[in-house]
Amino acid sequence: MKVEKNLERIQAEIKAACTKVNRNWKEVTVIAVTKYVSSERAKEAIGAGINNLAENWDEGFLEKWEILKEQHPTWHFIGTLQTRKVKTIIDKIDFLHSLDRLSLANEIEKRSQKKVKCFIQVNVSEEASKHGLTVEQVIPFIESIRDFKKIEIVGLMTIAPFTKDENSLRYCFHTLRKLRDDVQTLALPIAPCKELSMGMSNDYVIAVEEGATMLRIGTALVGEKEQEV
Ligand SMILES: *Cc1c(COP(=O)(O)O)cnc(C)c1O
Repeated sequence: MKVEKNLERIQAEIKAACTKVNRNWKEVTVIAVTKYVSSERAKEAIGAGINNLAENWDEGFLEKWEILKEQHPTWHFIGTLQTRKVKTIIDKIDFLHSLDRLSLANEIEKRSQKKVKCFIQVNVSEEASKHGLTVEQVIPFIESIRDFKKIEIVGLMTIAPFTKDENSLRYCFHTLRKLRDDVQTLALPIAPCKELSMGMSNDYVIAVEEGATMLRIGTALVGEKEQEV
C-alpha cells in the first residue's frame, strides 16, 4: 500500500513535469530500484503495477530473480558489472544500464545467447568516484563495437552529481540528451539510442523536464534499508 501511495505521488509529479515541457508522460518509464529492500517489498512494487525492477549487484539480483520468477518483471541491471559475472546474469536481464568498457562488451558478445539491450554509462560530471565513459569517449566506443551481434545500444545512462543545485543537474541531463541526439545522427544499426536513463529519487522531476525516458527510483518509491516508506 505504501509503495502504491509513493507511486501515485511520483506519477503525478511526472505528469506535471511532462505538461510543463510539453511531453507525453507515457514516454517515461519508472523503474523501481530494489537494491536496499527485501523481495517482499519488491513484490509489493509489482503489486502496485510496476513491471520494471532494477538491482545493482549480481548476488542481490540473482536472489530476487529467483524469488520473483513467477511475477515476470522486466529486469534492469544498473550497477557496475564485473566481466567475470557476465555469464551468470546476462541471459536473465532485459536491460543493462552500465556498459562502460570494451572488455565488458567483448564478454557479452562471447557469452550472451541473445541480443542484449544496453545503455552506455556516461560519467558526464567526470567525478573520479563514478564509472562510465566520458562524453568524448562515447562515439568512438560505439564505432569500435559497431559490428557486434549481441549488443544493441538502446540509449545512454548517467548518474547525476548528488546535489540540490538545479543548474548542475540540468547541465548534466542536458549534456546526456545532446549526446544521445548526436549518436542518433550516426544512424548506426547497432545504436538506435532512443532512451535516456537518468533521474533518481533526488532529481527525477528535473530529469523528466530534460527528456528522461527511464527513471531509476529507489528510496522515494520503495524505501531504503527496510525502513518504513
Ligand atoms: C541506487 C541507485 C539508484 C536509485 O537511487 P535512489 O536515490 O535511492 O533513488 C539509481 N541508479 C543507480 C545506478 C543506483 O545505483
